Amino acid sequence: MIKTLKFFIIVLFAVAFVPTAKAQQNFLNITNYRVFYGWAHNFPQDLLILRRFENNGRDYFLLVNPQTLQTRVNESSFYQVKEMTLSETRTFFKNTPYEKAISQAEKQSTPIQDAGIERGLPSETGISLTADLCPSRKPLERRLFADMITEFKKVEKPTPIALSVSGLWMLKHTTDIEWLKKLRDAGEIRITWVNHSYNHRVSAKAPLRDNFLLEPGTDIDYEVMATEKLMLKNGLIPSAFFRFPGLVSDQQVVFKVTDYGLIPIGSDAWLAKGQKAQNGSIVLIHGNGNEPVGVYDFIKLLRSKKRQIAQKQWLLYDLSSMVEDEEK
Ligand SMILES: [Zn+2]
Repeated sequence: MIKTLKFFIIVLFAVAFVPTAKAQQNFLNITNYRVFYGWAHNFPQDLLILRRFENNGRDYFLLVNPQTLQTRVNESSFYQVKEMTLSETRTFFKNTPYEKAISQAEKQSTPIQDAGIERGLPSETGISLTADLCPSRKPLERRLFADMITEFKKVEKPTPIALSVSGLWMLKHTTDIEWLKKLRDAGEIRITWVNHSYNHRVSAKAPLRDNFLLEPGTDIDYEVMATEKLMLKNGLIPSAFFRFPGLVSDQQVVFKVTDYGLIPIGSDAWLAKGQKAQNGSIVLIHGNGNEPVGVYDFIKLLRSKKRQIAQKQWLLYDLSSMVEDEEK
């Protein structure tokens, strides 16, 4: 009996003192940032390793929990590790929500626009909000966050939002990033940071098949990895999601992205294009000041749902919980 008790105390101690990297840690000196797949174990969790890197002499993993799709960064020494190829890793985790989501996205890889997962469960009473931060010199749409926090403060705090962030936006918006992190640290919002590519090139003239990431000469490795590194430098933990610039992709580029272990996320409700949000929608607006009409439409949508929100009959959902529940 005493032995068992001792065991539980040791286990509790081990679980309580998992040294997770603080969410706000800025990795300022990343070296050897690379793709690294495999299984990482620390009782009671099995995690999937996506990346490995060094920072100031310490060795880190970027990991995803294949059940919840939540990511974290942690020192590699903390885990029992089995390195595998991506396909071995995906086989190993084959019955998990993560693997189901990524293979679901691959099945929807052919459309030139809006490939990947574009909606969650219609039974969800509410939506998942994604706001894209494409390169822009304009300030962040702060009123969007203010309105969201006000409407949901009594029913859903922190309020979840997914921000698809591009490298070039991060470079120009350090004060906006700090402002968002303050809201996060104050428990007002919960942010899923989605990779939205580094350069986010776009041409007004080129047809879609040669535009955005399909532009000839695009270096996908740089677009994916440099964005993640810059997120980590800014103290943002990359999620396992990817949003294509312009929602434009082809089958080949979808598979290139899933080869990085990332899940492409589309949208069935790009508000500025007149698409309406339904229950279970993954709503797309732009938070970078370039599409104020979408932000206005979203605020209008919030106001129209005021009563349902107060009665918890219309809520915002984390992108990961939307995808995790996907049964298709
Ligand atoms: Zn964009």
